[in-house]
Amino acid sequence: MIVVLKPNATEKQIQYILAKTKNLGLKSHVSRGVERTVIGFIGPEDVLRVTPLEVFPGVAEVMPVLSPYRLVSREFKKENSQVAITKNIKIGGKKIILMAGPCSVESRKGLLSIARKVKASGASVLRGGAFKPRTSPYDFQGLGEEGLKYLKEASERFGLATVTEVIDPRHVELMSKYIDVFQIGARNMQNFVLLKEVGRTKKPVLLKRGMSATIKDWLMSAEYILSEGNFNVILCERGIRTFETATRNTLDINAVAVAKNLSHLPVVVDPSHGTGKWGLVGAAAKAGVAAGCDGLMIEVHDNPEAALSDGAQSLLPKNFNNLVKELRKISLAVQRDL
Ligand code: PEP
Ligand code: MN
Repeated sequence: MIVVLKPNATEKQIQYILAKTKNLGLKSHVSRGVERTVIGFIGPEDVLRVTPLEVFPGVAEVMPVLSPYRLVSREFKKENSQVAITKNIKIGGKKIILMAGPCSVESRKGLLSIARKVKASGASVLRGGAFKPRTSPYDFQGLGEEGLKYLKEASERFGLATVTEVIDPRHVELMSKYIDVFQIGARNMQNFVLLKEVGRTKKPVLLKRGMSATIKDWLMSAEYILSEGNFNVILCERGIRTFETATRNTLDINAVAVAKNLSHLPVVVDPSHGTGKWGLVGAAAKAGVAAGCDGLMIEVHDNPEAALSDGAQSLLPKNFNNLVKELRKISLAVQRDL
């Protein structure tokens, strides 16, 4: 249920509505847009039959939300949401945000070297997994807290924000101290306990699409995070499983446009996992920008051959640098900055 307020509604009237509905057991979220202020309600909506919100002072209109993902939907919020990654970096506006770095944080020296290079090429967010969700239990599982420390050091040294995957609700508090954005990986997209836990923080969350998830499933997972009070969610298309075997996954470019239509949240494209092959990353990244993504997440490694994970899809820093130059031309053509 969405309540649209009159343009001249006062703060006192808003607070009155919030207090009244809280007593009825409804959770609310106020969205103060340029054109209008709306309040979204979630909870047992039948109580509103007894207390009709239409009659409250300041209320212009009461509308049901038809989509199952309520807070995430464009019906709830018409304008694009901008998520503040740090004080200076916002995603969801005109500027396309570049996130780059190794698949896994492997060593202090290695991470600092990659961080310096991706920053010089134009990235503003450093990626790198410290807790890795590997398909095989015998593969490298990540450096854990040590990796988080290296991410923090690189962030301070080069003025980069950081994004890293959280795989366990028990790590949320510890990780909060070190990093700027929580990444929820494809394998955990429907780990609802984890979604709720990051939903209770205020930190931005990069929500990757599950490899067999429909766009609706993906948006419902985002709804879990928003419904806990954290509206700082960034969607990430990273390719889905199809019958195709030429690539690791099939990057669903449609999903970028569909998600932008259905939701106000920013959308990032990950052409590295989307293709699985470094030689295809550039084409997929360009397609992402042309389709209207708000950011790109690209794996970069100094020595892909020796990478402990995802070497085959990692770009050398010099190739990343060249790609950024080409992406700038495409951004210009679609009236974006990069
Ligand atoms: C990653 O970003 O390295 C990763 C594990 O991604 P995904 O969850 O999309 O497979
Ligand atoms: Mn990876």
